[in-house]
Amino acid sequence: MANRVFNFNPGPSTMPLEVLKIIRDELLDYRGTGMSIIESSHRSPEFDEINEAAISLVREIFDLNDKYHVVFLTGGASQQFFQIPMNFLAGGKTGAYADTGTWSTKAIKEANIVAKAHVAFDGKAFDYKHIPTQDELDIPTEAAYLHITTNNTIKGTQYHYVPETKGIPLIGDMSSDIASRRLDYSKFAMFYAGAQKNLGAAGTTLVVMRDDLLQKSNDALPSLLNYKTQVGKKSLYNTPPSFSVYVVKLMLEWIKRQGGLQGIEKINEKKKDFIYGVIDKNPDFFKGTVEKASRSWMNITLRLPSEELEKKFIAEAKAAGFVGLKGHRSVGGVRVSVYNALPLEGAEKLAQFMEDFKKKN
Ligand code: PMP
Repeated sequence: MANRVFNFNPGPSTMPLEVLKIIRDELLDYRGTGMSIIESSHRSPEFDEINEAAISLVREIFDLNDKYHVVFLTGGASQQFFQIPMNFLAGGKTGAYADTGTWSTKAIKEANIVAKAHVAFDGKAFDYKHIPTQDELDIPTEAAYLHITTNNTIKGTQYHYVPETKGIPLIGDMSSDIASRRLDYSKFAMFYAGAQKNLGAAGTTLVVMRDDLLQKSNDALPSLLNYKTQVGKKSLYNTPPSFSVYVVKLMLEWIKRQGGLQGIEKINEKKKDFIYGVIDKNPDFFKGTVEKASRSWMNITLRLPSEELEKKFIAEAKAAGFVGLKGHRSVGGVRVSVYNALPLEGAEKLAQFMEDFKKKN
């Protein structure tokens, strides 16, 4: 389609054209019902099928056994920041948190409102350019869990290993890198992600939790905040964000068609290599903002020699059909978000544009 841009928005973000077309084609009459899925009851057989399919696709794609529960919640990943400590830190327990930038800092702040957080790693001391190594994580033996942010959307860093926690439940905020690569997801007792980057439309948060962790949740909470309520009702305690769940299901099917996480990872590796390749070839012009070993495959952050050149770059890129490249104000510069649905061609063409821009400037 001639009028579609290459969309590098950090989230909500680009969607595969083929998924958008399915949504369009099914929008007015969902599979012969004479109504849109938006207009269908969340208790209808049609929505039930979508919900069940989404749950089993999550287990299949992330290679999880049936000890893992899958729910689709609301309130964004931000709600998990307080729902997790409310459920698992009741009675004076402590949650351990690795602070790797903006979103984990927020998770710590919320945990300290309702309970107590222990900072297992203080990324601020590294200006958030560094992901902790195993040895740098200080996990108290009495911690109820260790919470990490697997990809730091704003700072541009990402874990490239799964921390060992010696039996302490590991919880991952995977909002900006879920389903982007192969990973031993079963090392996590829980992981969660807002749908609006790699899983579809804003409005729902995928929450996956192993049963042994679920059993530790706090029953003295209002029903909607108690994980057991939503797990017991398969996310249908109240009206779920049904349209977003439908889009997540379509996205999971699309991921399968790409060859699952293995196929997705292959394309993502090429995409990040295009962009980091230009950065590494031109270190005096394009300066990556984080240390190499901690680089994100999803959000590539860089600075140009001056703010003036950064503005010019972003404006000229936009005119050339590459949108959403402005860095977050806390880092500045340029951020290239290459989520799953960004086509390989988009990264390749942007890399060429970067080379050309450097030559001209
Ligand atoms: N965690 C991470 C890593 C994020 O990138 C974001 C959103 N960009 C959030 C949490 C917050 O997500 P939400 O807006 O869905 O609450």
